[in-house]
Amino acid sequence: MFGSITVGSFLYFYGKIFSHKAGVNNAGIWLSGLTARGIAGWVLGVVITGFYVLLYWYPTTLNGLISIMNPLAYTITGKPADQWFLYGTFYTFAILIMGFRAIFRYRHNRYQIFRTAVIMLAQLIFAYLIPSFLKAMHQPEFYFSYFWPLKPEYLFPSNVAVFQSKGAVGQFMVFWGVMMSFVAVPALTYYFGKRWYCSWVCGCGGLANTLGDPWRQLSDKSLRAWKFERWSIHLVLVSITIITIMLWINSYTEGKIFGKASGIMAKAYGFYIGALFSGIIGVGFYPILGTRVWCRFGCPQAAILGIIQKFFSRFRITTNGGQCISCGNCSTYCEMGIDVRAYAQKGQNIVRASCVGCGVCSMVCPRGVLKLENGPVKGRV
Ligand code: SF4
Ligand code: SF4
Repeated sequence: MFGSITVGSFLYFYGKIFSHKAGVNNAGIWLSGLTARGIAGWVLGVVITGFYVLLYWYPTTLNGLISIMNPLAYTITGKPADQWFLYGTFYTFAILIMGFRAIFRYRHNRYQIFRTAVIMLAQLIFAYLIPSFLKAMHQPEFYFSYFWPLKPEYLFPSNVAVFQSKGAVGQFMVFWGVMMSFVAVPALTYYFGKRWYCSWVCGCGGLANTLGDPWRQLSDKSLRAWKFERWSIHLVLVSITIITIMLWINSYTEGKIFGKASGIMAKAYGFYIGALFSGIIGVGFYPILGTRVWCRFGCPQAAILGIIQKFFSRFRITTNGGQCISCGNCSTYCEMGIDVRAYAQKGQNIVRASCVGCGVCSMVCPRGVLKLENGPVKGRV
C-alpha cells in the first residue's frame, strides 16, 4: 500500500513540478485556501489534530488502520503493529513523499537537494528502521537521532537502568545519549550552528521541512512572537532540566527528598509538552501557525542549540546589504519568523538563536544578498 502511495505521489509531484522551469516558484501561495489559512487549511489542520487526539487518547478507534500495518510490522519488528508503529510509519512516509516534493521543487539549489536527502535518510534509517530492528532483537526501541532534552527519558534514571540491564547494546545506548547531549551537540553546533541538527537530522525539523514546507510562510514575524519565543523555549528547557535533576536526586536518595513529585512532574511534562505541544500544536497546526511552532516555541533541544549558536558558534548568515531591494521574500519564507530583511537592509550579519539554517531565505532572495557561512567568529558584526 505504502509503496503504491509513494510511487503515485512521486509521479504526481514529478509531473506537476517539472512542468515549471527549475527555480523558486511561489506563485499563488497567498491565494490558495490551503496555504493561506483558508477553509481548506483549517479543515486539514482539524484532520491532522484529530488524528493526534485519536492516536494519543483513543487508539482503539485506529484499530483498522493499525491492522493494515501488521504485515510490515511483522517483517521489520517481528511483532504486530501498534499505534506507535502506525504513527512512525505515517511519519516516515510523510517525510519521504514530501521530501521528494521538496527535492523536485528546489532542484536548482544544491544545498536544499543535499539537505533534504539527508533528512529523508536520517528519518528512514535512524528513526524508523534501526529502532524497528532493535525491537525485533528484543532490545530497547532506541532512536539514535534524538537525545536529551528532546527525548528526555533517555537520561531519566529509570530508563538508564533499563538500558544498562540490556548488556553491551544497552550500555552503548547510554554512552551514545550522554556523548551526544554533552559532547557532540556543543562541538558540532560550534562549527556548524544549529542547522546540523535542526535542518539535517532531527525528525521534527525533517517533517517541518518536507510535509510542512507548503506552510513555511505562515510563521509569525511579529516582535510579540519573538518575545514570547524567548520566554517559552527557555522555560521548557529549564523545566525539563529541573525535572531530570529531581529524578536523579530521587533515584540516589530512594525517594526520600521528592517522593512522588518528580515522577508526577515528568508525567505532566510528557503530557503537556511531549504530546500536546510537540504533537498536537506542533504538527496539527501546520496549516494555521506555520511549520516550526514546536521548534521555535517549545523544543528544549533547540533552546540549547540556539544558546550555543548565538554566543559561541561560527555559523551566521552574512548579508550584502547594498544589493538588497527590500522585497521581503526572505522574511516571508523564513519558517522561524525572523525578519531577515531588517538585517539585510542594514547590511548586518544574522546571528539569531532561532535560525535553523534551512537556507530558504538565501534561496528565495532574487539578489543573492544572503549567504550561510561557518567562518571564524572573530570580526563578525
Ligand atoms: S533566517 Fe534563513 S536560514 Fe535561518 S531559519 Fe530563517 S529562512 Fe532559514
Ligand atoms: S530577499 Fe534579498 S533582496 Fe529581498 S529583502 Fe531579502 S535580502 Fe533583500
